[in-house]
This record gives sequence, structure tokens and C-alpha cells, in this order.
Amino acid sequence: MTSKKNRMTALIKENLSQIHKQIEKSAIEWGRDSNDINLIAVSKRQSPERIQGALDAGHRLFGENKVQEALEHWEDIKPLYPDLKLHLIGSLQTNKIKDALRIFDLIETVDREKLARKLGDELKSQNRTIPCFIQVNIGEEEQKSGIVPNELPDFLEFCRHECALDIKGLMCIPPADEPTALYFSLLMKMADMHNLPELSMGMSSDFESAISLGATYIRVGTGIFGKREN
Ligand SMILES: *Cc1c(COP(=O)(O)O)cnc(C)c1O
Repeated sequence: MTSKKNRMTALIKENLSQIHKQIEKSAIEWGRDSNDINLIAVSKRQSPERIQGALDAGHRLFGENKVQEALEHWEDIKPLYPDLKLHLIGSLQTNKIKDALRIFDLIETVDREKLARKLGDELKSQNRTIPCFIQVNIGEEEQKSGIVPNELPDFLEFCRHECALDIKGLMCIPPADEPTALYFSLLMKMADMHNLPELSMGMSSDFESAISLGATYIRVGTGIFGKREN
């Protein structure tokens, strides 16, 4: 019996396997170990059926850009999959920190002092830590959040020493409609300089380039799930 649900699962399974093949191919081409490249399935604005399709295909690493939506998508499902990991890849408002800590396993978007301080305070009061990345405004764009490159050294120091945050890496969203390789290579250099092992960069359209420049996490939405709703 081929139900709509089964077709959905088959499609997403096929997309995932295509992307894994491309990851494998890029890894070989650029002399990297494909085990070091983690595929984040970005499930923002995707239907529960599609998300279930990815889970049924065995995928376990997901990204969401809004706390509320993440809770709607994942609060009931997450306890059923003990090995499931969820990354926050969108801006975090300080009044959502507690909710974010209920659902996310890693925060990729530590992007300002106030957030770093309040996140540190909340983690301390819960007596726990969580791995975090600093979001870098790599194109120094007015409208984008993130730490501009020349402020990274001080901000990293602040996060670690004043806020006791466990900073493991950097993430960026390069300017739209520009070649991204230069920005990826700049982020890689910054991570190298500070001995940060993780780099979250590259999306559906440019993850192969990101892999060539050291990405350890790539964030793919439409390439796995298809077009987003609304
Ligand atoms: C939506 C989103 C993605 C995924 O984009 P696609 O083009 O659908 O692959 C990646 N990173 C961030 C931060 C996003 O908000």
C-alpha cells in the first residue's frame, strides 16, 4: 500500500541520501573525513509529516530558527528519540532563554553581550552547560545579527570568562546574492586562529563550498524537505 505518508518518507529519504552522497564526494575531493561533517536538517516551516519522514529515514540532527516553533515541532516528539539533537540557528531573545534550554542541545547564535550574560546566568542557576557557537556577522551587514569579525577576540573572551559559556565554534550566514566562498574562508581563518573546532556554514545551495573550506556542520532545509510553507 503506497500511502501519501510513505511517498513523503521515500522522497525525503532519497533527498537525504543524495546529500550524503554529495557530502561524501566533497569530503574525498577536499581531503576531509566525512564523519567530521554533520548534516543539520533545517525543519523550520516544514510540516509535521515531512519532519516525521526525516525521522523515519533515520535522520537525527535538526535545526530550528525560532524557539516557539521548535517547541511546537519537537516538544512531544523529542522524548521518543533519545539520540535526537536540535540546534538553534536563529536569533534568541533573552526572554526565551528558559524555553530554548528546554528543547535545544546546542545554541549556534550567541551574538551579543546581553544574551551571553543572561544565558550564562540561566545555565549557572540550572547548574549545567550546553555547547554554543558564536554567530559572526561575516559580511558586516547592517541588518544581520552577529559579532563583527574584529570584535570576535574580545567577545570570545567575554563569553568564556565572564559568562562561563562553552564556546565550541562559529557560525555565519553570508550576504545573500554574493559568492560565499570568501566569507566561508574568512570564518575558517577566524576559527583556526582561536582554536575553535566547529564551523557551522553552508546551506542547500552552497554546502559543498562550505565543506571545502572546513565546515563541520552544514545546515540544509529545502534540499531535504522541499519548499517551505508560507
Ligand atoms: C533556513 C536556514 C537554513 C536552511 O536554508 P536552505 O536554503 O533551505 O537550505 C540554514 N541556515 C539558517 C540560519 C536558516 O535560517
